[in-house]
Amino acid sequence: MTNQIADNIDTVKAQIKACAKQAGRDENNIELLAVSKTKPVSDIVLAYEAGHRNFGENYVQEGVDKITELKHLPDIIWHFIGPLQSNKTRLVAENFDWMHSVDRYKIAKRLNDQRPAFAAPLNICVQINIDEEETKTGILPQNLMPMLAQLTSLSKLRVRGLMAIPKSTKVPSEQIASLRKMQTLFEAAKQSYPEFDTLSIGMSNDLASAITCGSTMVRVGTAIFGARD
Ligand SMILES: *Cc1c(COP(=O)(O)O)cnc(C)c1O
Repeated sequence: MTNQIADNIDTVKAQIKACAKQAGRDENNIELLAVSKTKPVSDIVLAYEAGHRNFGENYVQEGVDKITELKHLPDIIWHFIGPLQSNKTRLVAENFDWMHSVDRYKIAKRLNDQRPAFAAPLNICVQINIDEEETKTGILPQNLMPMLAQLTSLSKLRVRGLMAIPKSTKVPSEQIASLRKMQTLFEAAKQSYPEFDTLSIGMSNDLASAITCGSTMVRVGTAIFGARD
């Protein structure tokens, strides 16, 4: 039986490689995060068997259930990428390796305090509401530097960079307009935090634009696992 998910991963990787080449970038600096939200554990296993290790989940309880079920595959790297309420931080602190959607100091502080002593620091990205949309989570760009200054005191967190979900559009020039703002913000933050290595932008529909704009981690769901209900 052919593994459709493995084929899809190959296709996305080829696309990443082609986009990197066109942008004059090293494809090895772009990580592929497979977004498995709403998809069954059996799909994750198919991707795993194809050699894939980085998976993203949006809903805390669903993610924790999958992590628990796949404990026998300890080299999976689990990324939480959804909105998080403060009463659910412990589940993320105890189960995930990355958290991409930090948008409040309160959430960060709780994740820090709840991260188990034996565990490596939780990798985090600060989520930016790059198009300043009413309906979106994430901090406004002008609040980034004060937020980063606050996060430096949290020793069980390792701040890796920034994440955004730009306003949805299929028009590449509009995608680039949003994503360039993220690239500029990321480069500015790196002046003060040179250890930052992660710009988490790019999904199935704006992958090419995101790579043009310096993405180091693309979060791809539909193009790997198919459409969601
Ligand atoms: C669902 C989701 C993705 C993946 O989106 P696709 O369009 O299916 O590739 C990426 N990032 C976040 C934060 C998501 O919620």
